[in-house]
Amino acid sequence: MSTNISVSVRIRPLLPSETNDGMKNILRRIDDCQLVFDPKDPSSNQRNTYAHGSKRNKELCYAFDRVFGEEASQQDVFEGTTQPLIPLVLDGFNATVFAYGATGCGKTHTISGSPSDPGIIHRTFHALFSHINSITSDSPSTTITLTVSYLEVYNETIRDLLAPACVTSSAASSTLDLREDDESKRVTVSNLSEHSPETVDQVLALMTLGNKNRIKAFTEANAVSSRSHAVLQVYIHKVETVPAMDKDHTAKETHTTATLSIIDLAGSERASSTKNKGTRLLEGANINRSLLALGNCINALCSSTSAKHIPYRDSKLTRLLKYSLQGTCRVVMITNISPASVHYEETGNTLKYANRAKEIKTRIERNDIAVYDAGYAGVVESLRREVEQLKK
Ligand code: ADP
Ligand code: MG
Repeated sequence: MSTNISVSVRIRPLLPSETNDGMKNILRRIDDCQLVFDPKDPSSNQRNTYAHGSKRNKELCYAFDRVFGEEASQQDVFEGTTQPLIPLVLDGFNATVFAYGATGCGKTHTISGSPSDPGIIHRTFHALFSHINSITSDSPSTTITLTVSYLEVYNETIRDLLAPACVTSSAASSTLDLREDDESKRVTVSNLSEHSPETVDQVLALMTLGNKNRIKAFTEANAVSSRSHAVLQVYIHKVETVPAMDKDHTAKETHTTATLSIIDLAGSERASSTKNKGTRLLEGANINRSLLALGNCINALCSSTSAKHIPYRDSKLTRLLKYSLQGTCRVVMITNISPASVHYEETGNTLKYANRAKEIKTRIERNDIAVYDAGYAGVVESLRREVEQLKK
């Protein structure tokens, strides 16, 4: 099956403080798939109030898989981006959803939301648990286990946001290493804790804990801005027992696995625009290194040459996402942008980045389905885990 990466754009509303400051709206949503980036403001001669603008009058029209305007609800965004992935994941296809954009443009609102208006993670688990319930009640011989991990990439190091130490100390654990397994097409993180929530409330409790452990810092771009990439991974393992058909009466089991990754990226603004110094500047450089590497991988994946080198190894984020961007995975990019005139430059950069990402062609493949005689499945699974442990 062939498909393109799906690229959506979500325009957040002007915030009350921006309206009070008299900022203009520079974006117009045309329909479900198109928007106009219009820096010109014919109703006033405030053009000079836009910082460093030289080509301000040029309207640009962009087309994406979906464009969500400020009136779009969290449920609209979920249904238009992530919901279609749920049955695919339960059928053995990997999938990745990530929110990209400058600080303050709505990434965390989209991915996590608030208790009164939850975002994609909450809605995804509702849908996952309800699909799992209906599959297992329609087919009692099927069991599905769901395992969750939550990590952050901060200054090119990986931390477990749910490490047992975090539960008591409220501080992210020490840094962890990545391991690539080409055979199983998985990148694993050594010693990353795994959790098995059984209800949406249990998932939300884990997310609250993890989010407290995310590195946050004061910057001029936003009072409290997340400076790390937060990666939630859901690992699905489905076992279906098929009654004995052969004469030795051995039942068979099929094992299907898939990973769904949901990622809240750090702000994409350039370090210079935040007027950061010292540590914050270093963070900015590293954040840009990961996002730059992500952009370079996207460019390389878009290129039409067949013998192409994809520079996954250039950053921790791209190493981690190696199998989440290439052939075997379904990718949904949600690009968050601000309509405020003051964010003209960042909005332009973000739209260019998103426009480029549209070109990625991926071929999605189901993960291998393993079939075992029923009695052996448990043994095989425990050996597989032992091998993984030994590799670590
Ligand atoms: P980011 O994670 O990209 O830095 P946030 O998600 O924290 O940005 O959003 C910045 C502010 O804008 C928050 O106060 C958030 O509640 C608000 N906001 C973002 N998107 C929306 C939206 N679609 N509707 C209403 N408020 C939003
Ligand atoms: Mg955020």
